[in-house]
Amino acid sequence: MSNIRFRALEHTVNRQPVKVTPPSNKVSDYFGTNVFNKDAMHKFLPKDAYKAVIGAIEQGVRIDRKIADQVALGMKEWATSKGASHYTHWFQPLTGATAEKHDSFFEVSFDGKAFEHFSGSALTQQEPDASSFPSGGIRNTFEARGYTAWDPSSPAFIIESTNGKTLCIPTIFVSYTGETLDYKVPLLKALNALDKAAVDVCQYFDKNVTKVFATLGIEQEYFLVDTALFNSRPDLTITGRTVFGHSPAKGQQLEDHYFGSIPDRAYAFMHAFEIEAFKLGIPLKTRHNEVAPSQFECAPVFEEINLAVDHNALLMDVMDKVAHRHNFKVLLHEKPYAGINGSGKHNNWSIGTNTGKNLLSPGSTPKSNMQFLTFFVNTIKAVHNNADLLRASIASASNDHRLGANEAPPAIMSIFIGGQLSNALDEIENSAKDKKVNSGKPREAVLANAGDAFEETEFEDSASGNGLSKKDKKMSPEEKTALKLNIGKIPEILLDNTDRNRTSPFAFTGNKFEFRAVGSSANSSNPMMVLNTIVANQLREFKKEVDSYIDKGAKKDEALLKVLRQYIIDSKNIRFEGNNYSEDWAKEAKKRDLSNTTTTPPALDAFVSKKSMKLFEETGVFTHREIEARHEIMLETYVKKIQIEARVIGDLAMNHVIPAAVNYQTKLVESVQGLKNIGMKPEIYTAQSDMIREISEHITVIKTQTDALIEERKKANRIENMRDKAIAYCDKVRPYFDTIREHVDKLEMMVDDEIWPLAKYRELVTIR
Ligand code: ADP
Ligand code: MG
Repeated sequence: MSNIRFRALEHTVNRQPVKVTPPSNKVSDYFGTNVFNKDAMHKFLPKDAYKAVIGAIEQGVRIDRKIADQVALGMKEWATSKGASHYTHWFQPLTGATAEKHDSFFEVSFDGKAFEHFSGSALTQQEPDASSFPSGGIRNTFEARGYTAWDPSSPAFIIESTNGKTLCIPTIFVSYTGETLDYKVPLLKALNALDKAAVDVCQYFDKNVTKVFATLGIEQEYFLVDTALFNSRPDLTITGRTVFGHSPAKGQQLEDHYFGSIPDRAYAFMHAFEIEAFKLGIPLKTRHNEVAPSQFECAPVFEEINLAVDHNALLMDVMDKVAHRHNFKVLLHEKPYAGINGSGKHNNWSIGTNTGKNLLSPGSTPKSNMQFLTFFVNTIKAVHNNADLLRASIASASNDHRLGANEAPPAIMSIFIGGQLSNALDEIENSAKDKKVNSGKPREAVLANAGDAFEETEFEDSASGNGLSKKDKKMSPEEKTALKLNIGKIPEILLDNTDRNRTSPFAFTGNKFEFRAVGSSANSSNPMMVLNTIVANQLREFKKEVDSYIDKGAKKDEALLKVLRQYIIDSKNIRFEGNNYSEDWAKEAKKRDLSNTTTTPPALDAFVSKKSMKLFEETGVFTHREIEARHEIMLETYVKKIQIEARVIGDLAMNHVIPAAVNYQTKLVESVQGLKNIGMKPEIYTAQSDMIREISEHITVIKTQTDALIEERKKANRIENMRDKAIAYCDKVRPYFDTIREHVDKLEMMVDDEIWPLAKYRELVTIR
């Protein structure tokens, strides 16, 4: 009987692309048909209810109970007209996956009559059996209950499966005592903080700005693997990555896969999941091959951030479901294959206003450039001040494999802004005449001297006219500011979009920042919560400082520029334009005192540092208890992941690899025996003898290291404190993974191909 690997390979031989038929050739014909969007609401809701929901979406106005009943009724009518029989609150607990609990619309009255019903209370609040979701101790000590509550800012949608349709209502998930148990609540709170802080700052430039929202476009990288091969590898099915496997002879060295033509079967899959995504209102725009063989990427058009995050979570689910129909498994793990490019989830982030302005898009007038510079520089400063926290926000056991390995940004946080903008910032920095600000004095001292300092600065308010020639006086105030700030040239420069650095974890790309260190399997809420919180906090600080200069008599532009200039100086060491993949950068970063925390448990410390606690509390994003609970959950998740991997490694090594090696070794022994029996001299079978010995050596190491691994795991399991436990798993258990792997991979190269039980890399990454 052939082994499991060959049986799996046989399945893949005649795989054909699945025929895909879209509802229409024009996406616009069916885009959003499964979404309770404005059109659907308009049709199915009474006027008052419609207005109330729009108010909730656009202004965050609370919806009262009576209106909720009307919305529920309309939603049910819409959903049943589409064939939905059930509804569920759809939420994002800290497990990382989305959660659903389906209830039927169907009800029975006392006299046994059946009817369909959906009440306002069922729409707005549910109490799922929450005991199996992580809570970091919040629920255990207080109340066991958890509630889901409707989030009207993300529209309800219908999920179609082979045997039925379900209305999904995006919700938040909180404990009975109101503490957050999910990803969505902190993100919404962070967005709220950003809105307030950014609107305040916008008032310097435009009084019409009343609402600021963050935008997000998420590029999703993933691998495809044939289901049969996937199922043949216990490590893939259980951990999402291969714990063993020798690099293929032809990997990505040739880089011929990138932007190459998409294999037919993969194309069919992409087409199919795009159709489902379009129906759900997910605006997918781009698809292409990625760097590694069998790696791909898709990206939507950016959206308001809460929606973008929900859509990405939903998309991951949709991809997984659709993949089944195509005999594929989607690997969202950051590093399914060692030595091959990993997968990220680039988070393209910007901030926009109700007046339709992208605040990170350089404008064509000096005034709007001042506004651009304000948000641009504040973002840089926020990242500079909170680089550790940003690093923590993307930390996970799986992303640890990716950061700093094969074409992935390192764990060192830095910002790339491009040559032109670097020059612009340098010019602003160097234009400082008032050395008082630059003198390295503590901030307070500088602020106290602010009044004097302004007399020396060359950046007078454009209206004051001081220091300008007669000719200058004829210029408009804006022109004068442009001249003095020397920033009028930014817009043309930015049209040159070739200045790209693909190695930076956080890069400015023309009108947005791209946070590339986010892992492919992550829920973007976490990094986006952190990014928006730190920027919100930074903008609050900025406003305070600018106002304090203005109070001391400085003109607005002077004050703005003075603070910005100081920020540019303060945050300079986070800017890096070179190759982030190089070893030189690690050295340089060390000199700059930038941290390079390569593993998750210590990286997570930044969540509970004094500074972060203060930040979260002041911005209203987390209470102490909440962030401590979350920290605990993240550590626990890490422990579990490594624990599971350790078990899988032990299992595969002992039950798959060693038996195969012994099997082959026995064949060699028989061969030697046979040769001996027919009177051959030992020189004839030295190769076999050597191999017998080598196999024994590898087996010995694998066995002893696996035993040691089990011992370390037992020790780690006895540790009570979650941080210590995570550190033990990271520093004591995990190192065995590589040693064991090294010997297993050597055996893979020695053992008869006919006997080897684990699908090989070249087989896994080839799409037939
Ligand atoms: P790349 O060169 O990295 O592939 P693209 O120009 O294709 O970049 O854009 C990547 C993502 O950035 C897309 O999802 C796009 O919609 C998004 N994006 C563009 N503008 C913004 C913005 N203002 N805010 C947020 N995301 C944006
Ligand atoms: Mg990108």
